[in-house]
Amino acid sequence: MNPGILYIVPTPIGNLADMTQRAQQVLAEVSAIAAEDTRHSRVLLDHYGIQTPMFALHEHNERQKAAALVKRLEGGDSIALISDAGTPLISDPGFPLVRACRAAGVQVVALPGPSAVITALSASGLPTDRFLYAGFLPAKQQARLTALTELLDEPATLVFYEAPRRIVDTLTAVVEVFGAERDVVVAREITKQFETYLVGTASEVLAQVQADPNQQRGEMVLIIAGAVRAADAIPAPALQLLATLSKELAPKKAAKIVAGHYGLRANELYRIGLEQA
Ligand code: SAM
Repeated sequence: MNPGILYIVPTPIGNLADMTQRAQQVLAEVSAIAAEDTRHSRVLLDHYGIQTPMFALHEHNERQKAAALVKRLEGGDSIALISDAGTPLISDPGFPLVRACRAAGVQVVALPGPSAVITALSASGLPTDRFLYAGFLPAKQQARLTALTELLDEPATLVFYEAPRRIVDTLTAVVEVFGAERDVVVAREITKQFETYLVGTASEVLAQVQADPNQQRGEMVLIIAGAVRAADAIPAPALQLLATLSKELAPKKAAKIVAGHYGLRANELYRIGLEQA
C-alpha cells in the first residue's frame, strides 16, 4: 500500500471565496481532515459541500496525537490539516505533527493560500524584501516592552499578530521603544467588509486608533518598518561613488552598482540617491 500524504491546507481569513480549487479538491479527497475546531470548520466544509470526516487537532492534543497520526499516514490514509483560518502552523496548531511526519519520512505537501501575515505585508507599503514575522507579542506590559526592545535595531520589516483589546497599549509601547517617527501599518479585518489599513508614523497611527473605537475591533496585523541604517553608517567612498554615478546613470542602476561593489543594500542606496538628486 502507498503511504498517505499529510496536506497542509490554508483556508480563508474572512472571505469564504478565498478557497483555491486545489484546496477544495484535497479536502474532498483525503481520508480525514484534522481541524483545529471541527464545529468552526463545519461552516466552511458545508459551504463547499465537502463531506470528508473531521477530527479535532488543537494545541491541547496535538503532541499526544502526532504518533498515532503518523501511523495512520504510514498505513495509507492521506490527511489534510486545517486551522480555523489562514495557514496552519502560522500561529496555529500543526508543528508537532509536521515534525513527526518529517522524522518518520512521511510526505508533507503544503498548499499555498491565505495567511494574514503575507496579505497584510504585501499591501502595507513597507519594505517587503526582508521581513521578520514574530507572531503575537507577550500580553504583559514589561515582557512586551522587552520583546520590542530586542527588535529595535532589526533592519527587516517587523510583522506581528495583535488582539484588538491590546492594540492601544501595544502602539503606545511601539512609540516608547521605536520612537514616534517609526513608520507603522495596522491592517484590520483583511478580506472582510470593514477592511482598513492605517498607515503613518507610530504616533499618527496610535492617535487614529485611539480616536476611533471601531479601529479597536476585529482582527489585526501590526507592521513596523525595520531600522534604517543611517547614511553615515555607509562608508564615505560608497556615498561618493553613488553621487558620481548618479550624475550619469538612472538612480536604480547607480544604487545597484555601488551596492554590489561595497556589499550594501541597494534599496537604501537608491533612497539616498534620490535624496541626493
Ligand atoms: N494561521 C493564521 C494565518 O495564517 O494568518 C493566523 C492565526 S492566528 C491564531 C489569528 C490572528 O491572525 C488574528 O488574531 C489576527 O492577528 C490575524 N488575522 C487573522 N485573520 C485576519 C484578518 N482577516 N485581518 C487581520 N488580521 C487577521
